[in-house]
Amino acid sequence: MRRGIAILGSTGSIGTQAIDVCTRHPEQFSVELLTAKQNADLLIEQAIKVQPNAVVITDEDKYDKVNKALSSHGVKVFTGMDSITSLVKSEEIDIVLTAMVGFSGLEPTIAAIKAGKAIALANKETLVAAGELVVSLAKESGSPIIPVDSEHSAIFQCLQGERGRAEKIILTASGGPFLNKSIQELKSVTINEALSHPNWKMGSKVTIDSATMMNKGLEMIEARWLFNMKPSEIEIVVHPQSIIHSMVQFWDGSITAQMSTPDMRLPIQYALAYPNRLSLDTKRVNFAEFGRFDFFDPDREKFPSITIAYEAISKGGNIPCAMNAGNEIAVEAFLNGIVPFASIHKITQEVVNGTKFVAVPTLSDIFNTDRAAREFAAEILKKFKAK
Ligand code: MG
Repeated sequence: MRRGIAILGSTGSIGTQAIDVCTRHPEQFSVELLTAKQNADLLIEQAIKVQPNAVVITDEDKYDKVNKALSSHGVKVFTGMDSITSLVKSEEIDIVLTAMVGFSGLEPTIAAIKAGKAIALANKETLVAAGELVVSLAKESGSPIIPVDSEHSAIFQCLQGERGRAEKIILTASGGPFLNKSIQELKSVTINEALSHPNWKMGSKVTIDSATMMNKGLEMIEARWLFNMKPSEIEIVVHPQSIIHSMVQFWDGSITAQMSTPDMRLPIQYALAYPNRLSLDTKRVNFAEFGRFDFFDPDREKFPSITIAYEAISKGGNIPCAMNAGNEIAVEAFLNGIVPFASIHKITQEVVNGTKFVAVPTLSDIFNTDRAAREFAAEILKKFKAK
């Protein structure tokens, strides 16, 4: 039987690659729902191609345009976040791929979990902000959460067939575009330099997070919740070739690794087809061509975001949520040319420091923390605008 797929955030980098995966395997997948924030033209094009049951354009101003374009194609068109949270519960949907950017992914993910849908998780911020709540809700409803993030897909693949807990997770990092720049040089890097990732083609938020290495901090927290590991059991190692996507170490000292050329379609497809493997035309790894793989510790002085993330998850409660919000606002401000690259982690740290601690946050505490952190970050940004 074909699996019904909902793609939340279909016009982004993960979303477009997910559509590519689904259209290559029409015997396996039928796309039932597409949602986008504001890219009406691409959403229309995608809907005409894959013929979903419904689409949602979150930006209300774009609704008329999308509705007009799709009315003759038999695709229902909706707008607003509420439409997404109710449509993910539809009977024909089996798997919800959450590929929206940032904290906005939390609400629809929770709605899909409550409806018992399988989650193909591409929105790491959901677990960073509310990992404990999301994981326990998923347990309650029986929703499997299959990671799409390449590192977590690697760990998930390494754990197949294993029983019991692993001893350690080794999370690999490319090191991003600024691996070999000095702290001094980082002060003057441009937006375009930060957006030029050496190995991966990704959306702008995650690419900037890779440049600050906050992405690895977020992924460490994501791994903590997905695989029930303590932060001290998750080690980050820089591996600039990005062929080993992560490793798992077991109690006998054995280590398994998952490798491939960097291509996000692989983890996307694995999550949608799990536990099956389907064919995919990735470039195959030629080991002799590489000759060597390199590994080293990340430079925490140059990339303070890693330490900020470890401290945030150690404090726990609502602190990772505040950290995530501070980082989202700081990254956006950098992309808009308001703050320099080297200020991103400083703003994030300041937001964390200014957050009122809640040890066991409810969902409404999480939403309140996110809102307060964003307001606080906006205050901090005024200092930059005034200059
Ligand atoms: Mg990743």
